[in-house]
Amino acid sequence: MKQIDLRSDTVTRPSREMMEAMITAQVGDDVYGEDPTVNRLEQTAAGLTGMEDALFCASGTQTNLVALLSHCQRGEEYIVGQTAHTYKYEAGGGAVLGSIQPQPLDFEKDGTLDLAKVEQVIKPDDFHFARTRLFCLENTQAGKVLPMDYLKEARSLADRHGLRFHLDGARVFNAAVKLGVDVTAITSLFDSVSCCLSKGLGTPVGSVLCGSGAFIARARRWRKMVGGGMRQAGILAAAGLYALSHNIDRLAEDHAHAARLAEGVSGIEAIHVDMDAVQTNMVHARIDADMTALTQHLAGLGICISPGNSVRLVTHLDIDVEDIDRAVAGFRSFF
Ligand SMILES: *Cc1c(COP(=O)(O)O)cnc(C)c1O
Repeated sequence: MKQIDLRSDTVTRPSREMMEAMITAQVGDDVYGEDPTVNRLEQTAAGLTGMEDALFCASGTQTNLVALLSHCQRGEEYIVGQTAHTYKYEAGGGAVLGSIQPQPLDFEKDGTLDLAKVEQVIKPDDFHFARTRLFCLENTQAGKVLPMDYLKEARSLADRHGLRFHLDGARVFNAAVKLGVDVTAITSLFDSVSCCLSKGLGTPVGSVLCGSGAFIARARRWRKMVGGGMRQAGILAAAGLYALSHNIDRLAEDHAHAARLAEGVSGIEAIHVDMDAVQTNMVHARIDADMTALTQHLAGLGICISPGNSVRLVTHLDIDVEDIDRAVAGFRSFF
């Protein structure tokens, strides 16, 4: 029985074709700058995002961390969402390793940060305060696509206040595919962008950080310091190159599958789907049920979901339309 894992888009296994690309990759020592496949991935990622340069990292946590460290000095501050990955889910790396202070704000329902509230927390130049240096957004944010007009306003706010502007674009390709725009329409508004290769794009490992040449040079030193200088990393970069040329446009399928899943389970009385938030590859729902019993029932049918009454169901490369229908039937059979 095929396992249907809806917990996250990080659970994908590399395809045979991706593994073939990894096996046949030309490699060298990347700490010497001599891995041709890593170099090609970094050039490709920079080209795709319209940035000068890029840096291949072990994870999105690492790209976001070295971005924070490269933008902010000790005693400086970044404005960030209360539930943003760069604040809540990265073990406080910016504070621990950079003495960088977060200024969290609640996300609005649409995944944006209210720009009036952002403006209010920007500290004046006064020795009582940390120096506000950086403004971070996330796109997609919990599967929601930030509107382009909003992003442009956010960019001009950053400019008005002399802030640097970072995007946690773990799923920025999902956002671009959903909007039907070239990803540069989004990324070119930012000073730096982190993109995950190991989410919807389906690689086993890796993220890229993109930005100016000078910024990436600083990030490269920080990456070395936090243990991210990898050697024959071309094996991993080859998966990233494969993903960037084969797995971007198909994200539309994941979005269609999420819509079908949302539609299917929203017909069940005990499942309350936030339909406004079903925009890309995630379905958020509140389920009025004994979740231990439900997860066990689903597990018996080969369907894996995260525990908890507030559940996030995520579609990805290893989920096809039959799997969606099997999952919906699985939920129905429980209720
Ligand atoms: C997954 C994710 C990251 C990076 O996570 P890693 O597991 O460290 O690769 C960053 N931001 C968001 C929004 C994410 O979903």
